[in-house]
Amino acid sequence: MTALQQIKTIDKVRSNFILYRGKNKGPDYSKEGKELILKKLKNEFELKSYKPNFCLLIVSRGCHYQCKMCNYWKEDRKSAPSLTYDEIINTIDELKRITQEDIVVHLIGGESMLFPKFVEIVKYVRSKGFRCSVSTNGGLITKSMAKKLIDADMTGVFISLDSIDEKKHDFLRGTNGAYKRVIDAIDNLYYYKKKYGSNLSIGITATMMQYNLKDIIPLVDWANNNEKINDIFINAVMQPFFNDDQSKDWHKKKQYEMIWPQDLSEVFYILEQLKKRKKKGWKISNPASQLHVVKQYFATPWKYIKNLNMKCPRGDLALEIDSCGNINMCFYDNPIGNIRESGLYNSWYSQKMLNSRYKINTCKKDCDLSINCFYEPKNITDYITHF
Ligand code: SF4
Ligand code: SF4
Repeated sequence: MTALQQIKTIDKVRSNFILYRGKNKGPDYSKEGKELILKKLKNEFELKSYKPNFCLLIVSRGCHYQCKMCNYWKEDRKSAPSLTYDEIINTIDELKRITQEDIVVHLIGGESMLFPKFVEIVKYVRSKGFRCSVSTNGGLITKSMAKKLIDADMTGVFISLDSIDEKKHDFLRGTNGAYKRVIDAIDNLYYYKKKYGSNLSIGITATMMQYNLKDIIPLVDWANNNEKINDIFINAVMQPFFNDDQSKDWHKKKQYEMIWPQDLSEVFYILEQLKKRKKKGWKISNPASQLHVVKQYFATPWKYIKNLNMKCPRGDLALEIDSCGNINMCFYDNPIGNIRESGLYNSWYSQKMLNSRYKINTCKKDCDLSINCFYEPKNITDYITHF
């Protein structure tokens, strides 16, 4: 496969990460504008014509690593909320009833590969014609697991790697040997990918933080020159989930000094370097426009959506099912249902969903939670053009 073909494959897998916003003048939130939005949504609701463009499935919250920028590992692994295999299978069946498109079902955790029947889930998702990708710390991708994933026809594996400095990566992940296991995971996947002629996309996901700021460009350069890696995605560090601190200034607190970038000019320089490389066709899967938004996010984390006059980048069709079965459309809204109670199909075509879509489409909240969510809008006419 040529580099260009590879990037196209990756783009297909990562097609969900596209910036979503209004035309240059921004979304129309006037009374008339909102009425038009509601009319359109009601029409789609009556016709049941709207379909998910992405499905994020949080299979479990437990994790065996202890990363500095995450609180998931503080959950008791054995009692962390988790979906059952049957619940997941039923949900995939319901998803198929809603859409025939080959959307991505993306599995995450905690560490999703800790889920006992992880490979069976992948197989089932693929058997229904959906693409299936996973975010993982890579620690469980032994040779045998790599072979199973290739056999299951997995579409994409995105492995977290925050530095090519072994000590730094291990430190950030709170786990000795984490770096080595990432390199082994890449080797194992690549070996079976070549052996069986698989189209698996092997990606790296790096989180940009204070501690690894200087490592981002060397990491991107390393990934770009590594034939085993299809692409690299740079996440902006966020406030770790499940914290008690709801303040907008969380990032200014001492406890976050290690993760929140302290020198904005350095952040801007790195993002500009990334944009330049992206323009040259490097294997960076963030859209260039998103890198610009990340710049604004680091400058004003609680105001970047308003400052840029953006629509919610998460969009209103990117479905998230959490490890308690809740079906979430917006991070700040109540779930539209629960797979254990109302089921996916009924929740998707419910009044609650209509309300949620309207809220998302007219949301003016200063919300930083969606910074790394760049899901694909179906209406590409809303795609940003002027950055
Ligand atoms: S960031 Fe990922 S690997 Fe690290 S503790 Fe959280 S869930 Fe586990
Ligand atoms: S509050 Fe919800 S709809 Fe608004 S920007 Fe955040 S995730 Fe999007």
